[in-house]
Amino acid sequence: MIKVYEFAQVMFKVNQLLKIYKTNDPTTNKAQKNIILDEIRAIYIVNGIDASEYITQLDDIRLSKTKANMILSEMKQFVEPFEMPSAKQVEKLFKKVKKLKTPPSDQYDLQMMSYLGWNDYSANRKYIVYKDSKGAFQSIYGELAPTKVKGFCSICQHESDVSLFLNKTKANSDGTYTKKGDYICHDSNVCNQHLDDIEKLYHFIQKIK
Ligand SMILES: [Zn+2]
Repeated sequence: MIKVYEFAQVMFKVNQLLKIYKTNDPTTNKAQKNIILDEIRAIYIVNGIDASEYITQLDDIRLSKTKANMILSEMKQFVEPFEMPSAKQVEKLFKKVKKLKTPPSDQYDLQMMSYLGWNDYSANRKYIVYKDSKGAFQSIYGELAPTKVKGFCSICQHESDVSLFLNKTKANSDGTYTKKGDYICHDSNVCNQHLDDIEKLYHFIQKIK
């Protein structure tokens, strides 16, 4: 299986391919195309999967966006889905939170989630659940500004509709709190589509703790 964030890299590279196919310099195109196809192949090979069949289909200057999406949906079968925490696990992860809002029972695309993030609009909060490098569930929550602005997300590092997220850190000796935060995607599902490296999420969490 490949990771969700690795599949996000594949999606990004397929988009790059489509752009290359549209430009009119065949020599440069061929060189760039081969590099990208090799990179896609490598993502699968390091995880023990032979993706040659799909690479051959992607190696086509007439490739349409629709066809590319069809190939991607087949390549997605190898993506390891996010493990949804149970209601009990969520409660335990946020046991200190008063009036916890549990994740909405949406139809999640688990193969498109490196982490779970949901908003509580009545309390202006965002909750995040993720797995650390050892595979254990971890959590963080904080204030989420209701306003969205165009900017760079501190998690996925893409341009997006972002909002200021603030985490209340441990109390100082005088009883006051410090808030640390940054702008992140307002919608965590959008963030997940852009997140191409799980380390970016870990880095963000560390920065605001
Ligand atoms: Zn993001």
